[in-house]
Amino acid sequence: MEQGGQKDEAETVSSCANGKCNSNSKIVPGDEHDGDESSGGGNKRRRKRKSQKTTKRHVLMSFSELPDYMKDNEYILNYYRADWSIRDAFFSVFSFHNESLNVWTHLIGFILFVGLTVANITHHDKFFPVDAKSPGHVTRWPFFVFLAGSMFCLLASSICHLFCCHSHDLNVFLLRIDYAGITAMIITSFFPPIFYIFQCTPRWYFIYLAGITLMGTFTIITLFTPSLSSPKYRAFRALLFASMGLFGIVPAIHALVVNWGNPQRNVTLMYELAMAVFYLVGTGFYVGRVPERLKPGWFDRVGHSHQIFHVFVLLGALSHYAAALLFLDWRDHVGC
Ligand SMILES: [Zn+2]
Repeated sequence: MEQGGQKDEAETVSSCANGKCNSNSKIVPGDEHDGDESSGGGNKRRRKRKSQKTTKRHVLMSFSELPDYMKDNEYILNYYRADWSIRDAFFSVFSFHNESLNVWTHLIGFILFVGLTVANITHHDKFFPVDAKSPGHVTRWPFFVFLAGSMFCLLASSICHLFCCHSHDLNVFLLRIDYAGITAMIITSFFPPIFYIFQCTPRWYFIYLAGITLMGTFTIITLFTPSLSSPKYRAFRALLFASMGLFGIVPAIHALVVNWGNPQRNVTLMYELAMAVFYLVGTGFYVGRVPERLKPGWFDRVGHSHQIFHVFVLLGALSHYAAALLFLDWRDHVGC
């Protein structure tokens, strides 16, 4: 990836050496009059040119100056990075542009989930206990599957937002990774509730978990298949995501029919309901592009819809974490 950045730089120099600096060039006008580079003056000018180049590369752009692949939200007018090297994009995590809070909201979420995972690992040693069904010994692996899925989603999202400004190819690839992360979060969220509710009737948890895993795998394959990634299949992809979410209705009704006897059932349902509301409200902001649609340019760096969406995703994941703890705790008390 770093080589990509170097190549980019080399190409810029050669295109200017031919006397033509195109509009995408990162060298400022006037550089073509360098003269004899073997002299001290030449070296000085080279250094000056290098520093100008570096400065130029760090300049944030407006929406109208962006390459087409970066033009996504016309209501965010300024503070864009575009065609930055991997190195510059990496260090931009510490600067303030219009993706800063998108990166940090999910990076903080990732760190939070790492902390929760470490806390759970150090408090329990029951990943694969001998008697995984008896009270006090219930296996924890479905809970950790959910934690792993959430961490992957949050980290993939942060990386996507940080490096998507590098090039068109990397932008397309990282967007797919971002969607794969969302898919992983959806699939793994099913593991704790389905496993712990149906733990005593293994054929049901197996059918449901295998079903959602197959759907998720199919979705990820679709995301990475170029022919299915075209705009033509946009509705098909949306349908895949919606069906993964709606898939939960089947085991939920089944659980209620077989009288899922958790005395904390209502509290657990409240957490799950809160999760659904957080995800739906977050998606509403994401799709509606509110508030930046109402005042374009006002929310470029702070307060635009994608940042609000990220915060709601994190709140949804934390609600599901609380519900998953209750499912685990309940099965740990009642056993099979
Ligand atoms: Zn995002």
